[in-house]
Amino acid sequence: MTYREALERAGAYLEECRIADARTDAWYLMEYCCHMSRTQYLMKLREPVPEEEYARYQELLQQRGTHVPLQHITGEQEFMGLSFRVNDQVLIPRQDTEILVEQALQQAKAGMRVLDLCTGSGCIIISLLKLCPGLLGTASDISPEALQTAGENARRLGVETVFIESDLFERISGSFDLIVSNPPYIPTGVIDSLMAEVRLFEPRTALDGREDGLYFYRRIIAESGPYLKTGGWLMFEIGSDQGEAVSGLMRRGAFRCVRVVRDLSGLDRVVIGCRC
Ligand code: GLN
Repeated sequence: MTYREALERAGAYLEECRIADARTDAWYLMEYCCHMSRTQYLMKLREPVPEEEYARYQELLQQRGTHVPLQHITGEQEFMGLSFRVNDQVLIPRQDTEILVEQALQQAKAGMRVLDLCTGSGCIIISLLKLCPGLLGTASDISPEALQTAGENARRLGVETVFIESDLFERISGSFDLIVSNPPYIPTGVIDSLMAEVRLFEPRTALDGREDGLYFYRRIIAESGPYLKTGGWLMFEIGSDQGEAVSGLMRRGAFRCVRVVRDLSGLDRVVIGCRC
């Protein structure tokens, strides 16, 4: 079996399994399994795949065929141009979340203190610290397993962050210039209609925003007072249909300059507001 044939079959197999980007994922798994760039592949397409490598490739395809996310198989996801380790204990970083990081970078300056609530893989706080050197980062999550992954990501990417196991502000002390969060925001009743990759393999605690999806926004807005300096910013990622609700909560919570920011597809994605 040549590389070209193996890839062709793999794509067809994943299509049969109704994997969304079957052909792309077949390639990513080959790249991962055979340690091969696209150029190397093009040079080797007519060569036979060594037996062991082929067997390993089939194993990975079978996993992906059962809807295990690609990132759980390869163990990584790129975010803000950085490579993050991921596993089934953390939400896989999404490209949409880069909008939140970009908004935060507009306010961030060396010496400021930033807090990331529900840090998961740590992708938000770690990207901020990488891209704005001198920023002082604290991050919390209720899950010790998530914090372990976030800690590993911070170490690998060479940034210093204080990680605290905490239910939102419970164990946080001090005040911050910037608080960012991509909290769980999917209404409980909607989770079962999400794609299998998310519904079956991503941690439910990272998805579930309770009955109306707004539980964590309400709590963070209500509890942020003592932790956000006057003139400091609170910034959230939101679901695309939550812009009005979350900006309303912030305005009523005495935030000013409240603004909804759209993502690249024109959907509401981030809400920001300044503490009076
Ligand atoms: N902050 C992490 C991220 O954006 C995790 C978010 C979450 O678990 N809801 O990927």
